[in-house]
Amino acid sequence: MTNPLEFFETNTSPLSRQLLQHWDSQDLLAAKRDAFVLPENTVYLDGNSLGAMPRMAAERAQQVLAQQWSQDLIKSWNQHSWIDLPGNVGEKIARLVGAASGQVICCDSTSVNLFKVLSSAMLMQPDRKVVLSQAGNFPTDLYMVEGLASLLGEQNCRLKLVEDSENDQLLRQALTEEVAVLMLTQVDFRSGRLLDMQRLTELAHGKGILVIWDLAHSAGALPIELDACQVDFAIGCGYKYLNGGPGAPAFIYAATRHHNAVRQPLSGWMGHSSPFSFDKQYQKAPGISQFLTGTPAIISMSVLDAALDVFADVDMAQLRLKSLALSNCFQQLVQQHNSLKQLTLLTPIRRAERGSQLAYQHPAAYALCQALIQHGVIADFRAPDILRLGFTPLYLRYVDIWQAVTTLAELVQSGEYSKPAYAVKNKVT
Ligand SMILES: *Cc1c(COP(=O)(O)O)cnc(C)c1O
Repeated sequence: MTNPLEFFETNTSPLSRQLLQHWDSQDLLAAKRDAFVLPENTVYLDGNSLGAMPRMAAERAQQVLAQQWSQDLIKSWNQHSWIDLPGNVGEKIARLVGAASGQVICCDSTSVNLFKVLSSAMLMQPDRKVVLSQAGNFPTDLYMVEGLASLLGEQNCRLKLVEDSENDQLLRQALTEEVAVLMLTQVDFRSGRLLDMQRLTELAHGKGILVIWDLAHSAGALPIELDACQVDFAIGCGYKYLNGGPGAPAFIYAATRHHNAVRQPLSGWMGHSSPFSFDKQYQKAPGISQFLTGTPAIISMSVLDAALDVFADVDMAQLRLKSLALSNCFQQLVQQHNSLKQLTLLTPIRRAERGSQLAYQHPAAYALCQALIQHGVIADFRAPDILRLGFTPLYLRYVDIWQAVTTLAELVQSGEYSKPAYAVKNKVT
């Protein structure tokens, strides 16, 4: 069998480390691991929260500091095309999210970008007052709607939540004529559940509702088809699967068909049609640049730009296949250990319904996670009781999965994880 996903989906006999080594030797993405700097003796299962550092990113940071900033100074805006960086980075991301040219731009944070597209979409639908989202959406997404609602007034903007956005009946009921915008996150940050972008976008459009997708946990992790799904707006994160570094700038997608009508309220000079004519009045840029606000963060955007080059020759279908195979492998190994019976998988196991992470419920999830980290397996914890593991096919091997589950099983068997030190809560979890 040459397809690892088929193998892990159908296999019923116990896995061995040797067998996983075999799958590593067949892995078409194996060489990509060398593009990253990774700590020794560590299995990194948290690339969904902060991607690992690409070598090219580190080199670019050096270049920007040692030459562009220190030597070429302000000339670099032209000489090193700093001014075009938001658009150029946007184009690299566009390829990963199924967007034709001129619709993606890199800027600001995901939260700020959400505010821009959210208010744009609300202003395009003045007769409709409701933003509909998932109850389990990432808090910042819901908080941003709250903020917009307090600005526009409750009579003009209200947040409504659907408990289960995959439940067709619930969703259809909620998509009423007062809904202006359906705002969904494609992969749930807790459960890892993947929503059907095509179907949900179509459903909303059928009711005259605009759709915003948050791609924080999907961009760079799986193939996305924003244009083909006729999505209106999308936003996403630069520091998760795109490996842009801590706090890397985020991105915005706005379909070309909306560029004329839309008006985003964070109308800073970089979104002006002619920033350097220093006009008194704001005149928005005609294309995707209208979503820019202020001066781009050149150092971090340059690092993200270099990090994206790792994807230049990556076939996203291949990447998806390995991502699913790695997570399937993890789940099979979990089932292979009696000591791990207490772990309850929250993530749907069907391919079409999960992103690139697995989430397990366990009463001692926090301590387990801390013990894992102490033993070289970096996972994370999400309150109240979820152990979350991200699978990044560009730098993970099948033997790493073996190492991770073996470590986990040993920590549970020995009771090591119940040491008081592992119960101490850190500021960031
Ligand atoms: C990570 C994440 C964010 C992060 O927003 P920032 O502004 O970068 O802090 C937003 N939304 C979702 C769904 C996320 O997973």
